[in-house]
Amino acid sequence: MLNVEKIREDFPILETGVIYLDSTATSLTPKQVLSEMEKYYLEYRANVGRGIYELAERATSAYEAARKRIASFINAIKGEVVMVKNTTEAINLVAHSLKWRKGDKIVTTLLEHHSNYLPWLRCAERYGVKVEAIKPTPQGMIEVDDLEKTVDDSTKLVAMTHVSNVLGSITPVEEAARIAHEHGALLLIDGAQSVPHIKVDVAKLGCDFLAFSGHKMCGPTGSGALYISREAWEELDPVFVGGGTVESVEEGRFTLLKGPARFEAGTPGIAEAIGLKRAVEYLDALNMDHVVKHERKLGERMYEGLCSMEGVEVYGPEPKYKLGITSFNVEGLDPHEVALILDASAKIAVRSGMHCAQPLIKQVLKKPKGTVRASLYIYNTKEEVEKFLSAMEELTRSALKRK
Ligand code: PLP
Repeated sequence: MLNVEKIREDFPILETGVIYLDSTATSLTPKQVLSEMEKYYLEYRANVGRGIYELAERATSAYEAARKRIASFINAIKGEVVMVKNTTEAINLVAHSLKWRKGDKIVTTLLEHHSNYLPWLRCAERYGVKVEAIKPTPQGMIEVDDLEKTVDDSTKLVAMTHVSNVLGSITPVEEAARIAHEHGALLLIDGAQSVPHIKVDVAKLGCDFLAFSGHKMCGPTGSGALYISREAWEELDPVFVGGGTVESVEEGRFTLLKGPARFEAGTPGIAEAIGLKRAVEYLDALNMDHVVKHERKLGERMYEGLCSMEGVEVYGPEPKYKLGITSFNVEGLDPHEVALILDASAKIAVRSGMHCAQPLIKQVLKKPKGTVRASLYIYNTKEEVEKFLSAMEELTRSALKRK
């Protein structure tokens, strides 16, 4: 079990009294991460992979140690980890570095965040590839049968989220890996909403790419990573080149480095990588199994509490098929109105609107104004969930009275 009271001491922002239910958008940051980053700025501030003086060597080894530790967090034993600034950058890196041939097919889903959909539409415009999107069930589940039917021998890439950022639903990624590989395709997993919450093991999942953001998992903004399997490595030609990516340059030609630095053009987010390393150490010390257990328990109470309220419509599957993200609407109120009332009446921060997932919200859920989304993380308590439910009771009562 998590010692939530102790965890909360690491997040001074909670002393403001905010009930933070928007960790899906970005998590809060613990003091430990900030002090690790401060140490870099105050004690060994230098660029990486360039100078050979002591400070530069220290910065380089801290940066490479960060890469190694982040790789071990996802058990990336059979591939490489490229440091990026977020999930969006990681996915675009794959989209524009893969060697496409006209007629190649990309299979994705309508469950996706825009960051795992728009890059593929852009590939269709630029490289003449086809994009096919599997429609989830009304509860936001992806059926293995639909994957079997859609992935074929012309498929070069299957790109799918692991966990929906709107509904919290978990997708069948291991089956997707099997199906993709049976057809000689690669599998990209958008891990933005899974890596912060559950133990993700790329060796077990068998994916070729895993993209995730540090800022959703206690790390700093501007940090993230892209795992690339050995099989996929050969299929990529870096989209950005320049300083930090080359082994040698002559007039008119260059040879790229062999390792992950070939994808990291220019000075990387050094403090950000070091901060993300501290964040994964922090999460590992809590134990990811305990993290997910805690969130699921609170999530279940939140889901059931909301389902039992008159005038509240809850979306997504039952708790056993999802993580601690709940999307809903209140009859007679716009999602933004609900978010503003919760903020003003009880200092509760929830997200409202489209959640960067318009195809899901408009085509599958058919909610043109979007939804309200409450999401949980390691620092949320039972008491906060009860306060949220009380605030919701009050809000729905007055909404129903006004009808
Ligand atoms: N994918 C999913 C599932 C997300 O939830 C998000 C952000 O909410 C992203 C991708 C994009 O993440 P970032 O803005 O860090 O690039």
